[in-house]
Amino acid sequence: MTAARILVADDDPSVVESLTGVLRDSGFDVSSATGRDTLFAELQKAPPDLLLLDVIMPGTDGVQLLQELKADTRWRDIPVLMVSSLSPDEMTEKTFGLGAADFIRKPFRPRELVARVQAQLRMRRELTSAQVALRSAEEELVRAREDAESRRKVVDILHEVTGDLSSDEIYHILARRVARALSLSRCSVILAKPGDKVGVVATAFDNPALRNFEIHLDRYPEIRSALEHGHPVLVEDLQSNPLYADIRKEWQANGTLVPVRSVIALPFSLGKTQAGVFFLRRMANEPPLANEDVEFADAVIKAAVAAIHRAQLIETTKADNARLEVLAHTDPLTQVLNRRALTARLSSEMERAKRYDSVITLLMLDLDHFKGINDTAGHLVGDDVLREVAGLLQESIRSVDMVARYGGEEFVVVLPETGQVGAVKFAERTRERVERTAFTPAHGGVRLTASIGVASYPAPNVVSVDDLFARADEALYRAKAAGRNKVCT
Ligand code: GH3
Ligand code: MG
Ligand code: MG
Repeated sequence: MTAARILVADDDPSVVESLTGVLRDSGFDVSSATGRDTLFAELQKAPPDLLLLDVIMPGTDGVQLLQELKADTRWRDIPVLMVSSLSPDEMTEKTFGLGAADFIRKPFRPRELVARVQAQLRMRRELTSAQVALRSAEEELVRAREDAESRRKVVDILHEVTGDLSSDEIYHILARRVARALSLSRCSVILAKPGDKVGVVATAFDNPALRNFEIHLDRYPEIRSALEHGHPVLVEDLQSNPLYADIRKEWQANGTLVPVRSVIALPFSLGKTQAGVFFLRRMANEPPLANEDVEFADAVIKAAVAAIHRAQLIETTKADNARLEVLAHTDPLTQVLNRRALTARLSSEMERAKRYDSVITLLMLDLDHFKGINDTAGHLVGDDVLREVAGLLQESIRSVDMVARYGGEEFVVVLPETGQVGAVKFAERTRERVERTAFTPAHGGVRLTASIGVASYPAPNVVSVDDLFARADEALYRAKAAGRNKVCT
């Protein structure tokens, strides 16, 4: 252990000499001062572990000096032993409340002096180690607080990122949150893959108009590097970073003034695919970005990107479900309802009609001699005709009505809230439209007619959906039997 350093301040050289001698003999490292100026010069050189201070020095009152030392944070913690020929009571009175550590009376006894000095030094060591422990506890606390704070911010962000948002909205929220957490005026999300020449601005917190704007990545070496290596890239100062050496030359040549001071490009990926970078910037009049900012933003973004990914999966699953739902209900050739969906919906319409004492009518439409169209124009043209007939029916109905393809060239139209009289009028208009229409004009305009059977509920012996179908089918048979191109009930 190095010897404790003691500074002796006394105007009397003989006192200084004897104090110094005794202390040196006990192994202390001693320096001395004989007045105010030399005292402060010594203190400034290196603060001692202990100060022996004469109560009365010429030009200066030792008590006043003590007061000054205790008021200065640089010297406050140095223990001061007051040395004086005054009685201990007098000294206590003079220095009361000023923080002297102890008193020694002149003439002093060497053994007592050394004992008191050692006692003070021991106390000081204990105090110092207690202070160190306290400081590290405080640092620990600050760190824990900061951790909690950044975790809270992450949680905040995750709260905002719910599965209902589109990824565009999520990017925007993230950019805003990162910008706020790091007090950034600029934060954007650039979508690009490694090696891409062009990136697309998914969102720009500072300027929403930049959305979908394309940027040329040769102007942004930090973005390219971040994408390529998959690590965050920090450019503290655009004016000195080597990444910008070439671009700086251009700036100089063109006299371009660049208001940006620092940037961070933080790559992120969704699942296994590299999706782009978060692009954080601070302007010249703002403090530069540092490594802590990279770490914080990285933590925030990693947590949040996991949430984006989840949201995207939900989005695609939702879209898939919606597509599957449509597929499950649609006839692939004509895009009208298929037979299964028709049966299900007709059942619930029928229930409604029963519950509310309402009416409902079902039309069964069969194209006449359709086989002949296939035979003369070909099957593909036949398909087109079926599509156009479906389109014609779809156009004719109200929003509450339904069109379905029941079988090959048979269609069903359901008219809720419509009785037999109204339905027959509709069927007649439809029959006429089919008769008038030249289908597939590209193939010379195919002419055809349709026969329609009409059945309504309520009617005698019609209780179920099957009964309704059976009645419509019977009516259709009558229309065919009556020479086709007819509406029958
Ligand atoms: P009618 O109803 O007047 O008695 O005579 P039709 O020729 O229309 O009746 P039929 O039931 O004998 O023949 C129906 C034809 O419809 C047979 C089949 O080739 C054709 N058809 C059924 N489904 C499709 C299809 O998806 N595409 C095409 N192109 N033709 C179809
Ligand atoms: Mg037919
Ligand atoms: Mg048929």
